[in-house]
Amino acid sequence: MTRAYNFSAGPATLPETVLEQAGAELLDWHGAGASIVELSHRGPEFMQVASEAEADLRTLLSVPDDYAVLFLSGGATTQQALIPLNLAAPGQAADYVVTGHWGKTAIKQAHPYVSANVAADGEAGGFRDIPARADWRLSDDAAYVHVTANETIHGVEFRDTPDVGDVPLIADFSSSIASEPVDVSRYAMIYAGAQKNLGPVGVSVVIVRRELLERSGQPRAPIFEYARHAKSGSMLNTPPTFNWYLAGLVFKWMLAEGGVEEFARRNQRKADALYAAIDGSGGFYRNEVAPAVRSRMNVPFFLHDDGLDKAFLAEAKEAGLISLKGHRALGGMRASIYNAMPEAGVRALVGFMDEFRQRHG
Ligand code: PLP
Repeated sequence: MTRAYNFSAGPATLPETVLEQAGAELLDWHGAGASIVELSHRGPEFMQVASEAEADLRTLLSVPDDYAVLFLSGGATTQQALIPLNLAAPGQAADYVVTGHWGKTAIKQAHPYVSANVAADGEAGGFRDIPARADWRLSDDAAYVHVTANETIHGVEFRDTPDVGDVPLIADFSSSIASEPVDVSRYAMIYAGAQKNLGPVGVSVVIVRRELLERSGQPRAPIFEYARHAKSGSMLNTPPTFNWYLAGLVFKWMLAEGGVEEFARRNQRKADALYAAIDGSGGFYRNEVAPAVRSRMNVPFFLHDDGLDKAFLAEAKEAGLISLKGHRALGGMRASIYNAMPEAGVRALVGFMDEFRQRHG
């Protein structure tokens, strides 16, 4: 069987070795006589899987000890609602910097619980750039500032951690977590749905400074309290054990491959090759994002004639390159090139794009 190079934005491609290992041990986990997904989350087998996954993620991202690491069901969108519920007082302001679709979603989810102030918004420019820090209008009394580290649809990425002074900075890292080293201590909270760089959909990772969990937040059900999840080791209720386990295998794979420093080098090379193919196509392909903030994870691009889109997708599929259709909000194409996309996959895509251009140009 041949696996295609899968450029899906999420759920996204996973390392083959991880899938093979999961397949091999799915019926009988290390002689337990049952699959890891059939055993109690409080039993010794899963407790070991869970604590190793947390320890490996802490190593991978150099997470300081004063941060809790949570593995929660519910996607990144759920976190966008839980953030104000847990970290803002009723009626308090919270600042949102909107650099694409997911920043807007974050506001939508927060809206019932906070007075969301749009501190900066790239929409007027089609989300092709990140508003300059000097132009952000931060509130005086904000509970936090929220940014989207990488906008998965618009292909716009923060290259540096913005300086917001003493206000807690919260970042949605769903589509770029573990793609390069990050100074976690610059953030009050980082969160990510797993389904791009960390594993299968169904679990979210929340990395939050413990001190923040002392905030009283707003009236909410116990299941929505980050502090309770932290206290219970993310086992307040039955956690998504399969997803947690598989993410744990991905963390081990990333560490064995050389950690986030190595992935940063690979990701830069992949992104450079793809953007060079687009920019060097004489206008046959185009990416409209300002070069300084182009995403290294999600590369949206357009063909000069959208009448060719169908043929491009069909021929790419025949060449073993799948899931290149752009998000419906933008149209065109999008190649997501997360950690698990090998450099050979990007070379194959670039070769195909070149050849397609020669045939249809
Ligand atoms: N934030 C970003 C940056 C995303 O890319 C996505 C999903 O693609 C989300 C949030 C929403 O994640 P979920 O579907 O896990 O709620």
